[in-house]
Amino acid sequence: MTETETIILNSGQCKYGTCYACGWGKKKYPVNIEKLKKRVKQVNLEDIRKVKIYESGSFLDDNQFPKEFREWMINYLKEKNVKELVVESLPNFVNDDKLEEFKGLELTIAIGLEAADDEVLKEYGKPFRVKDYQKATEKIHKQGQKVKTYLMVNIPFSKEDTLKKSIQYALKHSDKIVLINTYPHNQSKLFQDWVEGKWKPLNKEEFTEKVKKWKNNPKVSIEFENYYFIPKFTEKHKKRKELKGCSKELITHPHYEVWQDYFQRFYKKPEEKSILLLLPCSYRKPYYKSQTHKKIYKALKETDKEEKIHRVVLSSPGIIPVDKCDNYPFKDYDWPEWEETPEVKQKYIEINKERVKKYLQNHQYEKIFAYFKPDSESWKAINKAAQGLNIDIENILKEETYEEIKNQKNPVTNKKALKELTKRIKKEL
Ligand code: SF4
Repeated sequence: MTETETIILNSGQCKYGTCYACGWGKKKYPVNIEKLKKRVKQVNLEDIRKVKIYESGSFLDDNQFPKEFREWMINYLKEKNVKELVVESLPNFVNDDKLEEFKGLELTIAIGLEAADDEVLKEYGKPFRVKDYQKATEKIHKQGQKVKTYLMVNIPFSKEDTLKKSIQYALKHSDKIVLINTYPHNQSKLFQDWVEGKWKPLNKEEFTEKVKKWKNNPKVSIEFENYYFIPKFTEKHKKRKELKGCSKELITHPHYEVWQDYFQRFYKKPEEKSILLLLPCSYRKPYYKSQTHKKIYKALKETDKEEKIHRVVLSSPGIIPVDKCDNYPFKDYDWPEWEETPEVKQKYIEINKERVKKYLQNHQYEKIFAYFKPDSESWKAINKAAQGLNIDIENILKEETYEEIKNQKNPVTNKKALKELTKRIKKEL
């Protein structure tokens, strides 16, 4: 019997909600003992040895999880023959009486120390200091229970040696430590820092480099990505009105820049997509609802291998994989091309050349195609990026064809051009 089950319990609210990178702590749920019991009972605990509870806050906080519920759950788990329980709590709520409640279970209290440095904790907004953490760990150990400590890699306000010192310290007081890459939740101050270019999350290589010394330590676990992460702007952040128009500044709007950083360093393209097809944007958003894109997708469908084709738009916000185009700001911007001045066009080419280059340096495809008007700024940016990388990117809309159709409305949806798109991709597949 070695199985583990994880249960997420949303109840009440973190008493503090002050941590710099945390948005979960600001969420508030009703505290309903009957609903909590129902949630636990929904989980099949047959042959389960260990249960982990995640609760965004503190399982030992009576306001979040009333004593009545804790006692019920502990008895319920024992009846189900569960042996081990892991719960999260701030040190602030750890005391002997509460620890007593768990008698009969092998308990681990997971504590988000984040960094063993009072200055960092203060700036970060943690509602306790290192000595409070230490006192809590001593109480837990005195009762024969275990401590798991979370430490954040790349935590803001840290110094060169913060991580090393924190790990050395936490190893002395924990049975296990978990090194977590710092990601900003969307409602956090750290997210705003990212938008303003003051801080950046580490990508996999950077993170791996920082933690490599401890990767073989049996007490240390390493988590590069512990939840599905994308830049999520809240309604409060969204600046829809600012995104309509055509200017040099708008091309590098901070919200676009955050997404470009995400696409370049974190985004994982769907595995089956081995062929990249760079496409123009459309006036109607999301792109897939526009006539332009519908006609292009129809042409791709005729290749019989459309599942291999990764559709990625290049537009004023930069590179936008179509599978992410439902997110703000990609449904919300409007770039009236006819307002472009020669300076804006030049800037568009320069910036997007770099964006395409960085994206391609981090994502591997077997073949890369583009489908743009040959005299468009987007194609010029792509072509320059290809030259810079010394790779071949073929524009399927050839100069000769374009010459014939360029005076027609929306040449990329011209039948002859679309036929050539189908034919060329089919040949490749
Ligand atoms: S990290 Fe924990 S203590 Fe801090 S705000 Fe979030 S839930 Fe509360």
